[in-house]
Amino acid sequence: MVKVLKPKGQVKNVEGRKIVPAEARVKKAIRFDQREESLRTLSQFFLGEMDLKMRMRQMSISSGKEPQEWVAALEILKDNIIKTEHPDLKLKMYQGMVDLLAKVGQKEDLFTIQQIIARYNLKSFKDIGFEKVEIEVARDACPVCRKMAGKKYSIEEAMETMPIPCHDCGTEVDAVKGYCRCRYFAVF
Ligand SMILES: [Zn+2]
Ligand SMILES: [Zn+2]
Repeated sequence: MVKVLKPKGQVKNVEGRKIVPAEARVKKAIRFDQREESLRTLSQFFLGEMDLKMRMRQMSISSGKEPQEWVAALEILKDNIIKTEHPDLKLKMYQGMVDLLAKVGQKEDLFTIQQIIARYNLKSFKDIGFEKVEIEVARDACPVCRKMAGKKYSIEEAMETMPIPCHDCGTEVDAVKGYCRCRYFAVF
């Protein structure tokens, strides 16, 4: 007897990606209040509504059209990252940018800033005299990231190959698929 296997659960397309109906995608986008999220991000750094308003006005004047709130919020953070001398605060602001980008589903920019954060961490380990790092994966890491668990690299090697953030990470956070939260630890 021939057993016919019926597909279970979610339907997948030829590339193996989940098919999400268009209307579900739209709903997800509507649920996100970009103004509220932008202000929430800024408030972590004692920045607020007035800063956002002023930046949006500046951007409208220079580009001739009203920018989206989250775009203006990212610009404010970028400026403050340049201005601040404090390394921890810089890192925190980069992380704020990453979290906001996850909310709006900007995967590529999110990945780029995660790389900046990873380099930053590697450099600070090097500056205080470490030579090696180990990867610690997030508790809810995806199968791709899980394979990285406990791997050790010299700092030079890690800077060159950038094993994390994992490019093929499948962890979904907010509107982004591929938010790798693996971290480096300095090895004694
Ligand atoms: Zn992952
Ligand atoms: Zn990862």
